[in-house]
Amino acid sequence: MAVSLRFDVISLFPELFAPFTEAGVARRAFESGQIVLRLWNPRDFAEGNYRRVDDRPFGGGPGMVMMAEPLARCLRAVQADRTDAPPVLLFSPVGQVLNHAAVEHWSAGAGAILICGRYEGIDQRFIDSHVTHQVSLGDFVLSGGEIAALALLDAVARLQPGVLHDEGSHQSDSFNPAVDGLLDCPHYTRPEEWAGQRVPAALLSGHHAQIERWRRDQRLALTARERPELIAAARAAGCLNAVDEAALAHLGNSAPTGL
Ligand code: SAH
Repeated sequence: MAVSLRFDVISLFPELFAPFTEAGVARRAFESGQIVLRLWNPRDFAEGNYRRVDDRPFGGGPGMVMMAEPLARCLRAVQADRTDAPPVLLFSPVGQVLNHAAVEHWSAGAGAILICGRYEGIDQRFIDSHVTHQVSLGDFVLSGGEIAALALLDAVARLQPGVLHDEGSHQSDSFNPAVDGLLDCPHYTRPEEWAGQRVPAALLSGHHAQIERWRRDQRLALTARERPELIAAARAAGCLNAVDEAALAHLGNSAPTGL
C-alpha cells in the first residue's frame, strides 16, 4: 500500500508513543503502513556530555525552557529525511483547539512534523522561526505535548480506510459531517434488559427506517441538550429538514422565528 501519511514526532519522551500505536484499532493504521510514524529525540541532537536540552528562563521564574538549538538541529534532520516540506505543528495551549474538521484536515494531507513541548515550554525564537501551526487539546495545561500528539495521531488513524472494522463506521460518530456534525446517539447491546432497564423498543423493531429515525431524534435531542451551538450550526448549514425541526420543536428547541 502506498504511504499516504507520514508523521515525524519530535519529543523528549519517544517511548510514550509505542503503547498507543501497538494496541487497539489505531494499530492497524500503523502496521499497514497507512500512517508512517517516526520518532525523534532532540536529546540526540544536543551537545556536550550532558546532552542538555533545557535551561533556566531569562528574566527568572520557575521551571526550565527547551533550548532552540537542539530542536532546530533535530528539525533539520527530520526535514532532510523527508522529500516534501510538511507543516510544522507545535502542541501548545496557545493553539487552535483540535476538532473534527482539523483532524480531517491533517488526515487528508501528506502528514506533518509534530513537536511536543515539555517544562515551561520552548524558546520563542524557535517557534517564530519554524512552527507553522499551533494546536491545543483544550483549555488546560498538560505536562508535555505527547498526549496531544497522541490524540491527533489516534483520531487521524481511525479515519483511515479499513482501520475501523466496519467500513465507514466513523461516519456515524459525533461531529462527523455525515451526521451533520451532531453528537452520536446512545448505544445498547445485550442483554435486552439490564438492571431493570430495557433497550429502547425502536432498536428491537427490526424496522430500518424506524431505527434510523429513532437514532436521528436521539442525536438531535442529545445535541440540543448538551451542545446547542452544534444544532444552530447544522440549521445554518441547511442540514435540518422539516421532520428534524418538528422533533426539535417537540423538545422546545425550534428555529428562531424568521429563519
Ligand atoms: N507554560 C505553558 C505550559 C507548558 S506545559 C503555558 O502556560 O501555556 C509543557 C508543554 O506541554 C507545552 O510546551 C506543550 O507542548 C504541552 N501542552 C500543555 N498544555 C497543552 C495543551 N492544552 N494542548 C497541547 N499541548 C499542551
